[in-house]
Amino acid sequence: MNEFGLIREYFNWPIKDPSVTLGVGDDAALLSLEKGDQVVTTIDTLVEGVHFSASTPAKDIAHKSLAVNLSDIASMGAKAKYFTLAITLPKINKSWLQEFSDSLRQLSGQYEVSLVGGDTTRGPLNITITLIGIVESSKALTRSGARPGDSIYVSGTIGDAGFCLWKLSNGLIPSNQELKRLNCPIPRVELGLVLKNLASACIDVSDGLEQDLSHILKASSVGAIIEVEKIPISEALLDHIKDSNDWSIPLCGGDDYELCFTIPEGNEEVLKKASKSCNVNITRIGVVTEQLGLQIEGFDGPRKSYQHF
Ligand code: ADP
Ligand code: MG
Repeated sequence: MNEFGLIREYFNWPIKDPSVTLGVGDDAALLSLEKGDQVVTTIDTLVEGVHFSASTPAKDIAHKSLAVNLSDIASMGAKAKYFTLAITLPKINKSWLQEFSDSLRQLSGQYEVSLVGGDTTRGPLNITITLIGIVESSKALTRSGARPGDSIYVSGTIGDAGFCLWKLSNGLIPSNQELKRLNCPIPRVELGLVLKNLASACIDVSDGLEQDLSHILKASSVGAIIEVEKIPISEALLDHIKDSNDWSIPLCGGDDYELCFTIPEGNEEVLKKASKSCNVNITRIGVVTEQLGLQIEGFDGPRKSYQHF
């Protein structure tokens, strides 16, 4: 099997979206957009040994590489539409490729995003997805709209992926449920779309709550106070925190792909309804302040959020 056979076999499935005028197979894709929409685009790379281990199943790698991009588009309040896949493979392993392809196709079908092109090369395993979405002009949710008095919320529970990683690196065996939180994050796509009309700022929690919330604060030129006791934490992690008196996992553990967002006063009831309709829990963890900096009440122990360099 050569490069072109590989693309045909694993990455060229029929596309239903009529706005894909030209997909895989030409020099570039052609996408027909509506007037009044803005294009939103994001890219994420997953590298073996950095973002996943050699033992991570192909289906999970496929899931995560698309899900982390869907999460970025969700945090902008946009609708994800098209993606390209640049894949670097050490060799052609048909069963690995089939599992990767099936999983990618399944998730892309679930979120109605179309694979419209890519690049295939040989080298150390590396997956890069560029995701393209749309949003009505000037309606996108950015990091820079938070104002003093806004409430700070997060979706789901925070720290589960970090807790799983902590277990793995300490020789403990995480449960399947815990592994799922690390390898198969659920992008908060529906929530992002409703927050577009409610939130003043939004970010997805990929590198740790403390660091990611700080990005909102810096971009918005504001500060915040949050309370660790208010952060929504799953039971197992809460037990670990009680034993160790260490909140660094929920504060700094990455890979949760929950949304962290700010809500102007007076929107509490609509927000409650939105949370119900999206079937995702949301929790108020603090408030935006005029005074700059992030004040964390309830923990001042050592911690460090993830950075590549
Ligand atoms: P070019 O030489 O013009 O870059 P390629 O030979 O790399 O074209 O790719 C041929 C076609 O297959 C292009 O339409 C490209 O977008 C698509 N393609 C290549 N690799 C992938 C992939 N991994 N997934 C989806 N489409 C791909
Ligand atoms: Mg190419």
